Amino acid sequence: MHISEHISLKELTTLKIGGVARYLASVSEVSELREALHFAEERKLPVIILGGGSNVLIANGEINSLVIKIDIKGIEWKEGAPPTLPTLKRGEGKGGAEDFVNVIASAGESWDGLVVEAVRRGLWGIENLSGIPGTVGATPIQNIGAYGVEIKDLIEWVEVFDTKVGIVRRLSNVECGFAYRDSIFKHPEGKGFIVLRVALRLKKGGIPNLAYRDLKEIFNSQFSILNEREKEERQSRLTPQDVRKAVLDIRSKKFPDLGKFGTAGSFFKNPIISKERFDELKKRFPNLPGFPLTRFDLTSGERSNLVKVPLAWILDNVCNLRGYERGNVKLFEKQPIVLVQNGLASSEEIESFAKEIATRVKEKTGIDIEWEVQKVKSMN
Ligand SMILES: Cc1cc2nc3c(=O)[nH]c(=O)nc-3n(C[C@H](O)[C@H](O)[C@H](O)COP(=O)(O)OP(=O)(O)OC[C@H]3O[C@@H](n4cnc5c(N)ncnc54)[C@H](O)[C@@H]3O)c2cc1C
Repeated sequence: MHISEHISLKELTTLKIGGVARYLASVSEVSELREALHFAEERKLPVIILGGGSNVLIANGEINSLVIKIDIKGIEWKEGAPPTLPTLKRGEGKGGAEDFVNVIASAGESWDGLVVEAVRRGLWGIENLSGIPGTVGATPIQNIGAYGVEIKDLIEWVEVFDTKVGIVRRLSNVECGFAYRDSIFKHPEGKGFIVLRVALRLKKGGIPNLAYRDLKEIFNSQFSILNEREKEERQSRLTPQDVRKAVLDIRSKKFPDLGKFGTAGSFFKNPIISKERFDELKKRFPNLPGFPLTRFDLTSGERSNLVKVPLAWILDNVCNLRGYERGNVKLFEKQPIVLVQNGLASSEEIESFAKEIATRVKEKTGIDIEWEVQKVKSMN
């Protein structure tokens, strides 16, 4: 294992912001990870875990920590593994074990590289998550999601190195505590877990998930000259590759070019509010879209009716902030929930800009918004 000193972290992030790390170790095996953790412990240094750096805001200045870049590689494709997931969706539970393939991917693999290989093999499940930057190991952290699919719908288990006790553990899907852009890994119980491998369950024969409006529209327009029966027939012949292509097409129109801007994608989460609050807002903003959710509290046994509201719509239609620019930072014109910087912004400037946006949303709607991007903190 090689440890470098005084490394600028800026180029290791897609936001292109970050100070200089005292030490950086790139680990490609669990034994190297143990060595790196030992190195930090000996020097009483905090540890920061980094994947592809596409969902982080790292502070400027000296970072007196050991940054560990997870570079553990390897993918296994296992035929005929029976699904154990609690979250099977419509049509997915059908079929025997021979209809499923378990994919066990190491944390340092490129997420989109894995999607490319899965669709090449004609496997269904992750095609809607095409084009998301970053590593496999980070996918459970915020339960990545796009176009009607979340990684929690496919994860069988997550293998972690538990730094508190120094052992490798396997967490089931339920133990990961997945929720919208959330998981155990973002909470104190999961502090100290370093993801090593992720096991996904993919399906050989599947049906496309076109629940997301933009995706459905792409295929509707492609099949517009067909009658209903022909449309259905054509849709039933879609491949994961067709869906990936459509998703990449939509994404290319919504997300900024990483070569031109610093960005971490959606900077904020879409707020989840009570049904009552949503109904009040709907009176003031009749076109406000909302996606109903039910949350069941296991401890109290209570069920609450909630609504997820697209923040991009609020920023655009309520706050009039599409394309809003201040200094070196702005909300991207094509997708206002995405924050971009021109290469000159500091971490403080990003934080101050994000604070202003949150204040404006609060003033207009009473809603508190949260960051989706992780402010990088050390583990210990
Ligand atoms: C243009 C663009 C588009 C995006 N689109 C989407 C989208 O559609 N949907 C979506 O959900 N996200 C999206 N993202 C956000 C981001 O790509 C994902 O969250 C991705 O999973 C982050 O992966 P990463 O390897 O870059 O993680 P990093 O940014 O390196 O790390 C993110 C967090 O995970 C932790 N972490 C990373 N690896 C590990 C590990 N092995 N073990 C423990 N902790 C770890 C880090 O400490 C940090 O807290 C987008 C980002 C960009 C820039």
